[in-house]
Amino acid sequence: MYCPSCGDHSTRVIDTRVGREGSEIRRRRECEECGRRFTTRERLEISLPQVIKRDQRREDYERQKLVTGIMSACVKRPVSADAIARLADRVEAWLHEAGDREVPSRSIGDRVMADLKALDALSAIRFASVYQSFGSTADYAAFMERLDAEPEDQ
Ligand SMILES: [Zn+2]
Repeated sequence: MYCPSCGDHSTRVIDTRVGREGSEIRRRRECEECGRRFTTRERLEISLPQVIKRDQRREDYERQKLVTGIMSACVKRPVSADAIARLADRVEAWLHEAGDREVPSRSIGDRVMADLKALDALSAIRFASVYQSFGSTADYAAFMERLDAEPEDQ
């Protein structure tokens, strides 16, 4: 990093802060040559995958869409906005770890349901009915069975 005053490149970082939205890092730097202090901003590259929709179209992953979907499933249920935000964080951490460039929306839905089920089973069912758009009563019954069969702690 070059000093904007003297052009020397021996600057050191004296403070690092994450921006309010978490997507920017600000570094306070000091030039070791002339003592000039300045701030640099770096955008964090958030490399979340493309989402493959059921009709095979791809779209960028959008946290807001996910949160809105979960929130609508949790209306009038004992699930706090904080809990939903943490759930979205866990889903994103999971996406990061998987490191895939594309992920089916279905997989994200399954991941959310597994997590939401531990918070509130009814919200999980509501989420599923929106996300998967059950094709038949049999599908719904099968899902309910799966819900019952799966262990609580995963
Ligand atoms: Zn300088």
